[in-house]
Amino acid sequence: MKQKYTIFWFRRDLRIEDNIGLHYALKSEFPVVPVFIFDKHILEKLHSKKDLRVQFIHDTLLVLKKDLNMLGSDLIVFHDSPIDAWKKILEKYNVTNVFTNEDYEPDAIKRDNEIEQLLGKMDVVFHSFKDQCIFAKDEILKKNGTPYTVYTPYKNKWYELLTPKAIASIINRPLFKNFAQLSSTSFPSLNSIGFEKCEPFDLVKSIKTKIIKEYDLKRDLPALNATSHLSLHLRFGTVSVRKCAQVGLEINKTWLNELIWREFFMQILFHYPNVVKGPFKEKYSNIQWINDKSQFKKWREGKTGYPLVDAGMRELNQTGFMHNRVRMLTASFLVKHLLIDWRWGEKYFAEKLLDFDLSANNGNWQWVAGTGCDAAPYFRIFNPEIQLKKFDKNFDYVKKWIPEFGTSKYPEKMIDHQYAYQRALLAYKEALNG
Ligand code: FAD
Repeated sequence: MKQKYTIFWFRRDLRIEDNIGLHYALKSEFPVVPVFIFDKHILEKLHSKKDLRVQFIHDTLLVLKKDLNMLGSDLIVFHDSPIDAWKKILEKYNVTNVFTNEDYEPDAIKRDNEIEQLLGKMDVVFHSFKDQCIFAKDEILKKNGTPYTVYTPYKNKWYELLTPKAIASIINRPLFKNFAQLSSTSFPSLNSIGFEKCEPFDLVKSIKTKIIKEYDLKRDLPALNATSHLSLHLRFGTVSVRKCAQVGLEINKTWLNELIWREFFMQILFHYPNVVKGPFKEKYSNIQWINDKSQFKKWREGKTGYPLVDAGMRELNQTGFMHNRVRMLTASFLVKHLLIDWRWGEKYFAEKLLDFDLSANNGNWQWVAGTGCDAAPYFRIFNPEIQLKKFDKNFDYVKKWIPEFGTSKYPEKMIDHQYAYQRALLAYKEALNG
């Protein structure tokens, strides 16, 4: 009789240690075949052939494949639509069970439902597990059974429900013998999936406890290397969120609170998938945006004449990263100073950010725009010059990203702050009262 197999499907959990779905797969009855699918439809939508995220996934998978090869197994990689890839897997292997980790984005939920149906027709059972967060879906609800839409009570409940078990790491190593013994198969090159190599990528993903210890003191200063830089790793699961939460709990709760923001926005997207299309708060849908394309271009290129805004946009364009304080300011400047629809900014960040995550990006843009669930009040409009004085008073960050800063080549301010401030207040008031 043909050998029976369990399949483990990697997605946003690209590690073999402390991976819950993989743990249960390895505990199942049959040898585990690990697979990954480069989803053709997602890749086709990416704008640039040089996409650091695709390269990051590609590089990470290569490491994963080597690790599996060392264990006598392999990583089977497809470049296909998920449904077609699964048809091929089912043809090739006698599959009994499929294990994976949950993904809470609306498109992922739809995809998983389709795959579960396909598998069901073949009597294959689809098992999925919570892995990318400490609490998910309906685990944190108000007394009346509805989701929290305000962060602080959500956070309080999060801490109330936290147990040592919830953040305990899972030890998979003793189960590694249960990977299927496979000979190494070919691995698609970046070119073959439609991409080109960018700068070599630093895959270091350590949780730097020294930085986290001082996080509450230094996190707002963009010139310092004072935040964890783990967002990309949390996004693709190259670090375990349980490990991060343990560190946060032990050495700095301010940092752990940021991880809770991440989960807060994840559950918002899960419960209110319409936020992808428009404002969480319906009454904000009437804002009369100006949407001036040439102004949008200046913002994108970091040529607004406001140094902290420009430095942030240039950091983003050059590295795919931007410091959180500066993300808030650049986003606020676009929405409030220029009255450009927050969805334009959200889309631009989604194209550029290495750590792009639908729930965090959407949640934060809506927060800045005042349209979101627990959003900043609309009349809170950052003054870019005060922000500069507070957070980069010696211009260290600004000079790092704007070589021509302080010379005649640096552009004049594209708009007067006071004028923009009053105009934004009016636009918001009219929308809310209209
Ligand atoms: P740290 O400050 O060390 O924080 C630790 C982790 O907590 C982060 O890695 C991240 O996973 C999480 N986190 C921190 N702040 C937030 C937050 N405000 N919301 C949700 N999670 C948070 N973060 C993303 O991961 N993906 C995005 O697409 C994204 N888009 C954003 C868009 C805007 C307009 C703004 C204002 C913020 C956005 N953030 C996003 C949140 C935040 O800026 C980044 O998570 C953070 O800057 C990443 O750096 P770090 O890993 O050093 O974070």
